[in-house]
Amino acid sequence: MPFAEITGHEQPISLLQASVRNGRLAHAYLFHGEARIGKWMTAVRLAQALNCEQPSHTDSFDSCGHCRSCVQIVARTHADCFVIEPDPESASPQIKIEQVREIEQQFVYRPLIGERKICLIDEADRLTISAANALLKTLEEPPGHGLFILVTSRPHALPITIRSRCQGLRFTTPARTQVEAAVILKREIPPADAHFLAVLADGRIGEAIETNVAEVRARQKECLALVKPQSLTSSTAILAAAEVLAKSDRGAETLSWLTRWIRDLVIVIVRGDQDQLLHLDQLTDLQQYAQRADIDLLLTVLSDIERFQQQATRHLNMQMALETTFFRLREALGLVPVAVSA
Ligand SMILES: [Zn+2]
Repeated sequence: MPFAEITGHEQPISLLQASVRNGRLAHAYLFHGEARIGKWMTAVRLAQALNCEQPSHTDSFDSCGHCRSCVQIVARTHADCFVIEPDPESASPQIKIEQVREIEQQFVYRPLIGERKICLIDEADRLTISAANALLKTLEEPPGHGLFILVTSRPHALPITIRSRCQGLRFTTPARTQVEAAVILKREIPPADAHFLAVLADGRIGEAIETNVAEVRARQKECLALVKPQSLTSSTAILAAAEVLAKSDRGAETLSWLTRWIRDLVIVIVRGDQDQLLHLDQLTDLQQYAQRADIDLLLTVLSDIERFQQQATRHLNMQMALETTFFRLREALGLVPVAVSA
């Protein structure tokens, strides 16, 4: 059943199902929580369940997922279901007043084929002020047959007037094990890759499902090459790598990868939960590094990287940031003696 295809979110889904059963569905909802964890998918599934031609009401309220209505809702061609979202092509994507007005006109009339007119608004925090004001008018006097579902990862960026008119429903990030299981099921990839993607995406199921495995594995390999003892013991190699990475605009990305690797090493040193390791398939190597590494110095490297990442791009000399990171990292790993500053 379509709701069951969603990873996690058991609580909000059962609350919505119970509301429908008891005839207490609100006229407007605000689905909020981290980006790409399944809020939008749940909104679409609810729209399907409400307008399904062969709904299943036996044990729980759900749609069939394959009738004409269900298919049209996903294809965005259903006469009673509308989607508003920022223009993805725009440099600063916004939801404009014209988009809201168009829907307003549709909501005056009763549903054509289904039970309800439904409007799904993705990235609702991107409503312009005038668009938000136009929407507010409809939310203040909602037509009996209408349902608005606003979806956002930044609920506080929405005007309080809009938020107060919607029933808030918080979505929490699904557990990594749930994401991993879903990735194995949906992508049919080896468990090691599924684990890697699930940890990398940090619970963002949408990202874990769509990420190109070969691409991220190639980046991982590049990063692992940078922390090999033979790379770090040679100052010439460090200077050359920092220059190449900074000039090819891969500095920030490299710093993020290094952060993930160093965190993994710290987990191994403190004998933490190995399931949290991004580089779980590098465990033997990590254990070898762990024997010589100095945890205090590693934590200093991590906080240095964080400081670099917080600096605005124009104020940061990326090449120097990378050089500093590599030189400190090799000391932290016990590959060279720690330099004594005068
Ligand atoms: Zn259906």
